[in-house]
Amino acid sequence: SMAFDASIRRLFPFVHAKEGIAYLDSAASTQMPETAIDAMHHAARAGLGNPHRGIHPLGDEATALYDSAKKTVADFLNATPDNIVFTKNTTEALNLAARSLGESWSEGDVVAVTRLEHHSNILPWQQLSTRGVEVRWIGITPDGLLDEKDVANALRDERVKLLAVTGQSNVLGVRPDVKMLVAKAKSIGALTCVDAAQLAGHAHIDVKDIGCDLLALSGHKTYGPTGIGALYGTKEILSTMPPFLTGGGMVREVHDDGFIPFEDATRFEAGTPPLLPAIGWAAALQWQTAIPWSDREAHERELVNLLLDELRSIDGVTILGPGDDRAYGCVSFTVDGAHPHDIGHLLGESGVCVRAGHHCAGPLHAALGVTASVRASIGLYTDANDIRALAPAIRKAQSVLRR
Ligand code: PLP
Repeated sequence: SMAFDASIRRLFPFVHAKEGIAYLDSAASTQMPETAIDAMHHAARAGLGNPHRGIHPLGDEATALYDSAKKTVADFLNATPDNIVFTKNTTEALNLAARSLGESWSEGDVVAVTRLEHHSNILPWQQLSTRGVEVRWIGITPDGLLDEKDVANALRDERVKLLAVTGQSNVLGVRPDVKMLVAKAKSIGALTCVDAAQLAGHAHIDVKDIGCDLLALSGHKTYGPTGIGALYGTKEILSTMPPFLTGGGMVREVHDDGFIPFEDATRFEAGTPPLLPAIGWAAALQWQTAIPWSDREAHERELVNLLLDELRSIDGVTILGPGDDRAYGCVSFTVDGAHPHDIGHLLGESGVCVRAGHHCAGPLHAALGVTASVRASIGLYTDANDIRALAPAIRKAQSVLRR
């Protein structure tokens, strides 16, 4: 896919700005294409008011751009704008879901959570323990697949209010069969909340096909800017959830003794929303939809396979997870006798950017029997040269650490 590499890569200004660097940390944050950067730049230069607040030309323009951005995000997920709540990021979206739903839960209620989850899809549910809500864990096999017995056990009764599950692990790259899990949860009357922070950057998401009630994603992992994310929710669920944050922009009537929030999803958008990030994210998503998913998937498969081959060529490197085409977008590994932080630091000195640590997935690392790992991850602009820079840099780090 040489043509794919070059034609996509030249649309990303960071490639020139960071020449000589192999950026293998797209699972933390993707870089932005020029078109998304320009969209924000142009909007700021044109002069904007406050969306849904100004009855003048600048306010109207802001409102139109904001609404259109929301439509783009909705389209990206096969939803409609009233299914979408803009948030700061995935983490805020999941906190919104947990806090709001949790208000009607109590002692004896259960949330099922998998050991693949990022802390952002664990802690908000754990915090509901103050209401007596219990977390039931779904464990994993050594390959990082969900343990089927645990799935059956966790979803065994109608105490389960919700299943929280990732669409794609940010450590192992594995994708739980979310559609099947949603169907299982539904059969016992439980809601489902999908953490699509990673999945959204690597796969076409159709919320109707998945059938989930809630789904969260971030702009900065889907080639947009930081400062914006979204919570998708079905109209049925969103219309029954109480507001999480309150204040301006979310309220229909305010009285001395209380308030009546808007009926629709704007009930969850208190305060001035992230307008410029919304414009940038929409531009990034629109740009992406012009690239066929099959081309993206083929490109990424080739790169992950190369990554696996390169890592396997190094003595003392242990790949975590399946180590085959069940891993998407990233590969995590350990290096014998070396702490991941030391490896990450030395790789950085060689111009190779990876993530090192627990990647906000402590329970997953504990289940894998390691305290931390090194993660190399890819994006649309990643090419074979980036991947080929990794193995020599690891060998160099090993020799430095052996001295
Ligand atoms: N969930 C997963 C699977 C992630 O990889 C991340 C980010 O690393 C998050 C949630 C949190 O995303 P954010 O930091 O954008 O809130």
